[in-house]
Formats: sequence, C-alpha cells, structure tokens
Amino acid sequence: MILTLKRNVSKSDIKRIEKKIESYGFKAHYSKGASDITIGVIGENAILLREFFEADPAVKTIVQISKPYKLASRQVHPEDSVIGCGNKKIGGGKFTVMAGPCSVENRANLMKTARMVKKHGATFLRGGAFKPRTSPYSFQGLGEEGLKYLAEARKLTGLKIITEVMEISQIELVAKYADIIQVGARNMQNFNLLRELGKINTPVMIKRGMSATINELLMAAEYVLSEGNQNVILCERGIRTFAQSTRFTLDISAVPVLKKESHLPVIIDPSHSAGVREIVPSLCLAAAASGADGIIVEAHHDPKNAFSDAAQTIDEKTFADIMKKLKPIAKAVGKTI
Ligand code: PEP
Ligand code: MN
Repeated sequence: MILTLKRNVSKSDIKRIEKKIESYGFKAHYSKGASDITIGVIGENAILLREFFEADPAVKTIVQISKPYKLASRQVHPEDSVIGCGNKKIGGGKFTVMAGPCSVENRANLMKTARMVKKHGATFLRGGAFKPRTSPYSFQGLGEEGLKYLAEARKLTGLKIITEVMEISQIELVAKYADIIQVGARNMQNFNLLRELGKINTPVMIKRGMSATINELLMAAEYVLSEGNQNVILCERGIRTFAQSTRFTLDISAVPVLKKESHLPVIIDPSHSAGVREIVPSLCLAAAASGADGIIVEAHHDPKNAFSDAAQTIDEKTFADIMKKLKPIAKAVGKTI
C-alpha cells in the first residue's frame, strides 16, 4: 500500500506515520519524488492497514500496490534509482561500461586486460574469482588470490571492481574487495544468499536466471531490498529459447519492461547472451539503444587464450570500436558514457 502525503506535510508527521506503520509490524519505505512524498507500507496484506490511515490529516491518497514486488516497483519509488559507487554512479543518465575477462586468470593477464579496457573508456573491471562452471573439471577461479589481483588492478587503473559471489560463506570476503557484488544467473533464486546480501550495503547486481521471468527477477531483487540494501542493479544476460545460433537469446525487451516496472538500473550482458564474439558488438549497441544503463562485456588482451568463455570474449580492437560507436547511440537516448 502506498500513502501519498500532502505537500505541506511536516517531518514530525512523516516520523509519526512511519512509527505507526512499524507498530503494526510492517516496514515503512519513505520516498521523495519531484512532485510527491510517498510512504510505502511493506508487508503481507498491508492493505488491511488502510482504515487506520484514511482519516489521517497528513495523508492525501492511499493506493494498493498491485504487484508482488513492492520495493522494486516503480509504484513505490517513481524516480529512477541511481546507485552510488564511490566516485562512479550506475543509472541517472550515465551509460556504464563494465568490461574484463570472464575469470581472473593470473596477475599479469588481469593487469594487461585492465589497462586495455581502461584505455578505451570502461569504468568498471569485471572478472570472476569464484566461477560457477558447468563442469566441475573446468577452471573454478582463483578465489581470494583473484580478489587481490582485482584490488591491485583497481589501484593501478582507477577502475571499480565487479565480481561474483557464489555462496553465503564468501560474502564477507568478496565484500572486502568488490565495489559491486554480482549474483550469477544460476544463483538468481538462491533466496538465502539474496537475503544475506540484503544485510550489507555493497551494491548488488543480480543476473536474470536463464529460465527466469521478469517477475521472478524482480522478486529476487525484492529479497535484497527487503533486508535493507537498496543498492540493487538488474542484469539481463540472455534466456533459453529454441534459437540455436546463439548461446542464449538476449531479451532486449526486458529493458523497457523493467524500466516500466521498476526504478532499478538495468545492465545488459551481451557476452553470455551471444556466446560467440562476432555477435557481441551488435548486442552492445542494441543495449544502448534500448535505454539500458550500461553493459557488462567480456574482453581480454588475448581472447583466444582466455581460461573461460573464450569464444564470446572480444579483443582490444573490437572493444575500442564498440566504445566509439556507443557514444552517439547513448547520446541519442539522453545518456553519457
Ligand atoms: C559471469 O558473468 O561470469 C557469468 C558466469 O554469468 P552468468 O551468471 O550470467 O552465466
Ligand atoms: Mn563468462
């Protein structure tokens, strides 16, 4: 349920209403938009509280939240969320480029790729230290050693770091190094993991499960938001369809749909969608044209020898070319790189 407050409402009225909501065992979510001040009443059957607020002199209107996701919905939070990340931000008119290897392979390789993506305008370095691999015999990542290399690359280049956490026991460690924590597609519905990530403040990027609906992605975000962490970013990375020419099918319409439904920033992963490097540039440009808030792309100084996902990893020349072409497209949809 959303309470829209009267324009001249005082701070003490807001406090009073929040306290009243909490006294009934619900959460109060304050939001100040350009035209309205709203308080979301969050919890199961919140609408039952309606009668207690109908006669409140500070309340202008009461609307039921029709969607199962509450904190993730645009109804509760009409303005776009901008996620702060030190001196960088995700959303709010910025088109963010995150690039780097699929996995952190060793120190030398990471530094080379970090310099390369920085040179052409990326602002985040991606790289997995804990890797969810389909085969238990494939390279599983360097663990903390990999996180240390990421931190070193950040120091060297000024790039921020995004890296994956696979289980609850890794959160504390990964949060020590990461600027954004990534939840992989295979963990999108690991609800215990999501809840724990809701208890920290580090921004969390949730990748859409390969068989997950948009509703399910937003409910995953809701798990993190409902525990208190409001720094959530959504990522479309391709879904399973009958199409065989790409590894997954990039659901580009997920961008306008998510933008309509939610205030959270949306990032596109063209690499895992495509699975083949030749298709990645077009998907990067489509991401910008669709109104996404950025891309996360696999790039490497020597892609053919990448330890994981080599086939979809792009080289320096391709990355540089994408960056050049992205600029006018981002500008055309009102964003800057
Ligand atoms: C990744 O980004 O490294 C990754 C494993 O992606 P996804 O979870 O989307 O498969
Ligand atoms: Mn990968």
